[in-house]
Amino acid sequence: MLFSPYPKTRREELFDRENELKEIEDAVRRGERLILLLGLRRLGKSSLLNVALSELPNPSIKVDVRKTYSEFSSVNRYVIGKMLLSAMGAKRKLLEEAKIFLKRVRGISISGFRVEITSKEFSITELLEALNDYGENAGRVVIAFDEAQYLRFGGATRYDGILAYAVDNLENLTFILTGSEVGLLFDFLKFNDPEAPLFGRYHHDVVLNRFSPDMSAEFLRKGFEEASFPVTEREIDDAVRELDGIPGWLALYGYIRATRNLGHNEAINEVLREAKSMIQTELSRLFAYSPRYRVILKGIALGYSKWKDIKDYLTLKLGYINDSNFSKLLENLVKSGYVEKEGGEYKIPDPVLQRIFRE
Ligand code: ADP
Ligand code: MG
Repeated sequence: MLFSPYPKTRREELFDRENELKEIEDAVRRGERLILLLGLRRLGKSSLLNVALSELPNPSIKVDVRKTYSEFSSVNRYVIGKMLLSAMGAKRKLLEEAKIFLKRVRGISISGFRVEITSKEFSITELLEALNDYGENAGRVVIAFDEAQYLRFGGATRYDGILAYAVDNLENLTFILTGSEVGLLFDFLKFNDPEAPLFGRYHHDVVLNRFSPDMSAEFLRKGFEEASFPVTEREIDDAVRELDGIPGWLALYGYIRATRNLGHNEAINEVLREAKSMIQTELSRLFAYSPRYRVILKGIALGYSKWKDIKDYLTLKLGYINDSNFSKLLENLVKSGYVEKEGGEYKIPDPVLQRIFRE
């Protein structure tokens, strides 16, 4: 269903994104080893990734790093190893065929379709080497890390180093990394730092943008038609204006409206309400770290767009803060994608969030 409020997994449920899908498929076919799928939250990265993996003829495994991190509060090698192995366990054919290579990996045991880590000898690198050997005949193995910026919390496990080794040496592997927090992802990967393992490595970036107003309207029309729910063109236009081409909000609006049989305004209000609780969860870590983040977001949402004006607003609300600490907080919001900086001005790129923070 086009409006289903979960990441899509099948081509039929994904509206458009044909070019991006083709771009990913072509890059894998060409043998590119590192693909980044970038874009704000709710633009459909996970959906596109799922569909791409399901359409590709290649064997593939995926780990949702954000979910893993929130579940285990860590992404050390045992945790990520466990997720990789369980993703493999869910793919019978892959596991069956890769078994003979996996047997050589120290510290894991395979029984039936269960693969487990059994000792401290386990290393991610060895696991990747085994998958690379498997890929030699089976075809390039695609390994996807959704919301890969969370790999920076690996502690002693340095995923940037592991990735660099794999990209340089394991020619039958392709990594696809997605990231909503694009600044944080690049901080972690450090392609421009001569001291960093991934310095200068080639990466193919696929950037997801929001839907144009025409495409947004088309998406809503198609979704409502599929749900056999009658709406007017005026309502469509209004929703397109309010939700500004962000597929996640458009789908949520359509879903809420069609399933709960709501009027247009009620549905928009429900989207705002749901969005508010999603944001609370998403930002809880940041807000726990400093209450100033919330006030900065509010200031920007209210229209303060210059560094100095935002700082003055924050000072007025919460008292003195020095310049460099303020800059750090603001920079973190930019790196995590909640705020955008353009020509010396700061703004919140997501209109739904802007409305929520303004309150
Ligand atoms: P991201 O991973 O970028 O945060 P998701 O893939 O989770 O985004 O998508 C957010 C929501 O929007 C999901 O409910 C998903 O079903 C919907 N969605 C995103 N892109 C599309 C699309 N192209 N067609 C239909 N629904 C989409
Ligand atoms: Mg996602």
